[in-house]
Amino acid sequence: CGIVGIVGRNAVAGQVVDALRRLEYRGYDSAGIATLEDGRLERRRAEGKLSNLQLKLLQNPLSGAIGIGHTRWATHGRPNETNAHPHATDRLAVVHNGIIENFRELKAELQAQGAVFETETDTEVVAQAVSHAMKGGLTARAAVEATLPRLRGAFALAFLFAGEEDFLIGARHGAPLAIGFGDGETYLGSDALALAPFTDEITYLDEGDWAVLTRDGAEIRDASGSVVARPRQKIATQA
Ligand code: GLU
Repeated sequence: CGIVGIVGRNAVAGQVVDALRRLEYRGYDSAGIATLEDGRLERRRAEGKLSNLQLKLLQNPLSGAIGIGHTRWATHGRPNETNAHPHATDRLAVVHNGIIENFRELKAELQAQGAVFETETDTEVVAQAVSHAMKGGLTARAAVEATLPRLRGAFALAFLFAGEEDFLIGARHGAPLAIGFGDGETYLGSDALALAPFTDEITYLDEGDWAVLTRDGAEIRDASGSVVARPRQKIATQA
């Protein structure tokens, strides 16, 4: 339901939770975060309120300078910790808003190729499909680019990759996604309001766009793979 991503300079977990708090108004049943700890993907997830996630982070802190977070409003799979986002494989973690309509077909195909699913969600097919493409030799970017056209439905996605401290990937297909530009930090959010504590420089992705976010900014591509320029807007700060 709510997506946040930060390519930051210091530990980002606190900022990710702050941004998720600004998306609480949308409603949610669980929440989660993933960061890279020395290149390793680490997740903390909790059923219920963000305060439950914060408690887990207090007991078991994350220090990564790059991360993604999510508040979930379950559509496929019960609202429990296992089904809470981010969903992950050994290669990547992903958070997702919306619905992957053709997840059953994709799941069956991936299972036939040996993928073992851990959750009941539609979202996990995205993690498994990109992971499978990477195991077939594609880079993270190429694997996302190859997977996006296979997904049906309305969705927004954010990806974090094991061993890749310097970039996140976001994609928009029927659900909004905004990029925020900071001072040596770049942000991703389901709306500009979530990013208001960090920046008022925002670019909205267009329908079908996907973007690679680094600390220096973002490279945005349209569905055909061409690099595109999208306008930067100054939004009124709500912080
Ligand atoms: N369909 C996904 C799920 O049920 C994402 C729901 C959402 O937008 O939060 O996990």
